Amino acid sequence: MTPAASIRFDILTIFPGMFAGPLDQSILGRARQDGLIEVHLHDLRDWTHDRHRTVDDYPFGGGAGMVMKPEPIFEALEAIRPLAEPAPYVVYLSPQGRRLDRALVDELAAHPRLLLLCGRYEGVDERVLEHAVDLEVSVGDFVVSGGELPAMMLLDAVARRVPGVLGGEGSLAEESFEDGLLEYPQYTRPAVFRDWAVPDVLLSGHHAEVERWRRRERLLR
Ligand code: SAM
Repeated sequence: MTPAASIRFDILTIFPGMFAGPLDQSILGRARQDGLIEVHLHDLRDWTHDRHRTVDDYPFGGGAGMVMKPEPIFEALEAIRPLAEPAPYVVYLSPQGRRLDRALVDELAAHPRLLLLCGRYEGVDERVLEHAVDLEVSVGDFVVSGGELPAMMLLDAVARRVPGVLGGEGSLAEESFEDGLLEYPQYTRPAVFRDWAVPDVLLSGHHAEVERWRRRERLLR
């Protein structure tokens, strides 16, 4: 699946401040500066109309916790959608979603525009999922407190697929999960550290041998 040449991410959250650090540093920071990815943060509370900027309410039928109300989410999505072309593919981060893996990262990276909806509380009103979300995505079979950290993981993994984000394309070709294998073991100097020596073959300068060794290690892993 061919990744998009650049990707615009729209993120809908009640905690836009959580994204500041991770999106400004290193690979993602550079990708944004180079215009390979664009990230637009939207505070869901901007689409509330009461004094307390309420985004949650009690669940019908009772039970613990609160549920995110549909009105601000639909209003926000309807306001964000026309901000750019094309319409975004809408992803809701959810422990009940499809597990994020290499194949899904590739599928998502084919979209030039992704809208990531971050849940809080017990999640969103089911009508949001039925009528406004294209795909629910989970980062694993465990529960975290909100969709923000999962959204950052998804964004980082997807951004790495955009051509140019990793600089040398070589670093992508040998990464884990390329051709279904994990990466080979990596070593750097010193050659001997606390009696633990680097495999001889890596010091041999014999390129073909090194390649063979790496291939075998990837298969073993
Ligand atoms: N009550 C929900 C359940 O049991 O499925 C869990 C709600 S969780 C406390 C709050 C929000 O965090 C979720 O709505 C979702 O957006 C996000 N979240 C939690 N775990 C996640 C995961 N493994 N993958 C993706 N998002 C997750």
